[in-house]
Amino acid sequence: MRILVSNDDGIYSPGIAALARAAQAFGDVRVVAPNVEQSSAGHAITSSRPVRIRRTRVFEDIDAYRVDGTPADCVALGAHLWDHVDLVLSGINLGTNLGNATWHSGTLAAAKQAVLLGIRGIALSAPVTDESADFSTLRPWIARALETVLERDQPMLVNVNFPHKPENLCWTAQAVDQYDGRIVADTDPMGRELYWFTVVPIEGPREGTDLWAVARNCVSLTPLRLDLTDHEALEATAEAGTEAVR
Ligand code: MN
Repeated sequence: MRILVSNDDGIYSPGIAALARAAQAFGDVRVVAPNVEQSSAGHAITSSRPVRIRRTRVFEDIDAYRVDGTPADCVALGAHLWDHVDLVLSGINLGTNLGNATWHSGTLAAAKQAVLLGIRGIALSAPVTDESADFSTLRPWIARALETVLERDQPMLVNVNFPHKPENLCWTAQAVDQYDGRIVADTDPMGRELYWFTVVPIEGPREGTDLWAVARNCVSLTPLRLDLTDHEALEATAEAGTEAVR
């Protein structure tokens, strides 16, 4: 199995090193990742200029390439340059990607780009903020999460989030009831206004959701799809006899 590994924290993140090492147990691994951090880049692609890919010696025994582009660029280019990629893994992100945070996530976007190309995509994120983290306590859980997803053919797109101290794994739904994004006003040293885009903790997430599971020390596995159509609403419009909207 050919496994392409990417992320949005950049090729020098300890998270991608942990994921690439874990992936070696499942097949041939190649790393193609952004040369600098691209967190919250979402599913952007670079269309206003060409992108460059360069071989990088970050791992002794794993082929690695850095790209001056977004996470989605890395997966598109990585899959283009390596015949028949079977699986794309993205992460391990330094920080969780739960609930509505997934809309902004570059980590998840890399996995989504894989699915656009007909390749299975798994995004992995952990509540780790320390750049020197070694992911050693998570190592057995990374393997278990990958085994659990890969033992079945579906779903094509999975968002995996680790808690601080995993005790179990659970399949979950995306928590979409509440949005944690906030804007905080500040001033620069010259006294001029500026604004931070930040997040606040979400209280009381609904049972069975990704946020709920991670708060209960469960590794959250959320099956996702790219079809954003509200099929119920579409059905309702058909019932109202408005198939041909004028
Ligand atoms: Mn990130």
